[in-house]
Amino acid sequence: MSKVLVIGCGGVASVAIQKCCQVSDVFTELCIASRTKSKCDALAEKLAPITKTKITTAQVDADKVDELIALIKSYQPDLVMNIALPYQDLTIMDACLACGVNYMDTANYEPENTDDPEWRAIYEKRCKEAGFSAYFDYSWQWAYKKKFEDAGLTALLGCGFDPGVTQAYCAYAAKHEFDTIDTIDILDCNGGDHGYAFATNFNPEINLREVSAPGSYMENGRWVEVPAMSIKREYNFDQVGEKDMYLLHHEEIESLGKNFPEVKRIRFFMTFGQSYLDHMRCLEDVGMLSTTPINYNGQEIVPIQFLKALLPDPASLGPRTKGKTNIGCIFTGTKDGKPKTYYIYNVCDHQECYKEVGSQAISYTTGVPAMCGALMMLTGQWTKPGVYTVEEFNPDPFLDALDKYGLPRSENRAPALVD
Ligand code: NDP
Repeated sequence: MSKVLVIGCGGVASVAIQKCCQVSDVFTELCIASRTKSKCDALAEKLAPITKTKITTAQVDADKVDELIALIKSYQPDLVMNIALPYQDLTIMDACLACGVNYMDTANYEPENTDDPEWRAIYEKRCKEAGFSAYFDYSWQWAYKKKFEDAGLTALLGCGFDPGVTQAYCAYAAKHEFDTIDTIDILDCNGGDHGYAFATNFNPEINLREVSAPGSYMENGRWVEVPAMSIKREYNFDQVGEKDMYLLHHEEIESLGKNFPEVKRIRFFMTFGQSYLDHMRCLEDVGMLSTTPINYNGQEIVPIQFLKALLPDPASLGPRTKGKTNIGCIFTGTKDGKPKTYYIYNVCDHQECYKEVGSQAISYTTGVPAMCGALMMLTGQWTKPGVYTVEEFNPDPFLDALDKYGLPRSENRAPALVD
């Protein structure tokens, strides 16, 4: 029996909300609140005839703490699920603290305006000290740890697939499969084809910022940064086949490095087709990925936001996308004094997802873990005061829930390794 406030009603949120409504005995009441209320109303209307969960909707600008506080106070939820954008992480955390409510999200904080001088000064300092230059990092949200501890509240960060399930896979490997882990390679393969020359699978602004940033990995506790897309490997993915993949900076490397300091190397690879890379490079070269506003005919335009308006809405890719995703982690290490390798992953079919919830697999593989993370918090299995990432909780009930609600794990004890 619980009341949950979901903020955001985009691609990922709509999957998470539909999955919550499949577990009505836990998610008894849900309020969907977003900037555009009509989207929340449309989803609530679609779900009303097929779920026992009592759904209401609200309009909120999650950039404004006062508006959030008013909404939380009037709805009185047990948990706020932030499935808006990473830009809103801190305002929503502030509102949760002010109202004494638990918090979760699917991606770590980054600022909307990376030219903001106050933010930039802190960012430049971090680049020098930490050794990686991505716009997003955990420092902003980890800084809330004491506040959440003192309030007796839990904040769960980054509970999608990657970040999210990939960290649960790491916690599972450490708990059940290894005495010591030496290396972790996280492999994110999207073998889906939507038929467009160029489109992003989730919010284009967030996606393009992530992909155009320099790559980095952790070796012996230190960041190694390399130019974007400069490390390429080929891998033969189960049920997808041979794909090119590129080393990226990814947020879970940072938390895994902190929580598993004994691991000697942590890397993240994502597959990209040549057409995607060619388009991205060209857009970047002409300045279309810039977040700095320009003045065009008397109107201020942020190039990457204008680009977003031109690109296909990720939510519209669902009916067109065919093929499968394969996301997981390959570990090397030792068990009982012997060297060991282990691969744990999930394969998800775009068309199956579309049949079930009307979305492609990228939104599905993020929305289902968000629901399962909320389920862990609401059933008291993942509650401890403070701010935590997924690998800091018991992975077993979470992976069982993922098996049950649509993202079952596969295992391989003799995987091909990535050199
Ligand atoms: P979308 O752009 O599809 O949806 C974002 C939603 O947030 C929209 O409903 C939007 O409203 C709403 N929103 C944006 N700004 C505000 C605001 N100021 N106040 C209230 N609502 C707002 O994004 P996605 O669904 O693709 O992504 C959602 C989150 O999931 C992102 O944080 C993304 O980084 C994360 N993600 C995580 C992954 C993982 O594996 N961990 C993978 C993929 C995504 P409106 O309709 O008005 O625009």
